[in-house]
Amino acid sequence: MEVNAVIAAGGQGKRMNSSISKQFLTIHGHPILYYTLNKFEKMSTIKTIVLVTGSDDMDYTQEEIIKRYKFKKIKMVEGGKERQDSVYNGLRKLSPQTDIVVIHDGVRPFVSIKLIENSIAAAAKFKAVGVAVPVKDTIKVVGNGNIIKTTPKRENLWAMQTPQSFNYDLIMDAYEKALCDGFYGTDDTVLVERMGLPVKVIEGAYENIKITTPEDIIFAETFVALGYGDFRR
Ligand code: C5P
Repeated sequence: MEVNAVIAAGGQGKRMNSSISKQFLTIHGHPILYYTLNKFEKMSTIKTIVLVTGSDDMDYTQEEIIKRYKFKKIKMVEGGKERQDSVYNGLRKLSPQTDIVVIHDGVRPFVSIKLIENSIAAAAKFKAVGVAVPVKDTIKVVGNGNIIKTTPKRENLWAMQTPQSFNYDLIMDAYEKALCDGFYGTDDTVLVERMGLPVKVIEGAYENIKITTPEDIIFAETFVALGYGDFRR
């Protein structure tokens, strides 16, 4: 079984209010993206990592991440306007021999190898798998003028994370159908859901945060100090 990964790191990080893309911000001396890639690089199950970055970040990534940390399994691809465009560019770069693809956000460095492995094993069985955690807060649907419209039952609500792992042919079909229909989603599983196919959810981890806003850096520093960024976990 050939398993490959697509790491989406093509965003500009507008919500971080920073001039450098958020995946290059450093935590305890190393860029966020280093911690993420290190997990996939060390996994013997993963053959190739396709790393998608913005066109302006490609040279920097080549020098400061790939060469500096001597990553061996990475192929770089230019990103697109939305995350979905970036991931699609990455998926098209994979070998047609790919059986399972693991799609992961470059800015989620605290994913554990165990969770990636669980996601791959589930994808071998269910074909489409997302990692998620039950929400802790009550979630509201809010309408015009910030007036609450509805309150979905919390016990049915899960916050989606990555990795999201798929049978390669299935996710390619889902991406091509979305492109054809002009549909844009904010994760990968929604593209399979809209084909009317089942998607399995497996339980993720609350520390598997997506580093998005400035306060996330404070959590990230604590997590690295606790050893969560370490590839051995
Ligand atoms: O924007 P969002 O928070 O959904 O980004 C999640 C991941 O997708 C980030 O790692 C980001 O770098 C990536 N992304 C991308 N191409 C874009 C936008 C976001 O690869 N055009």
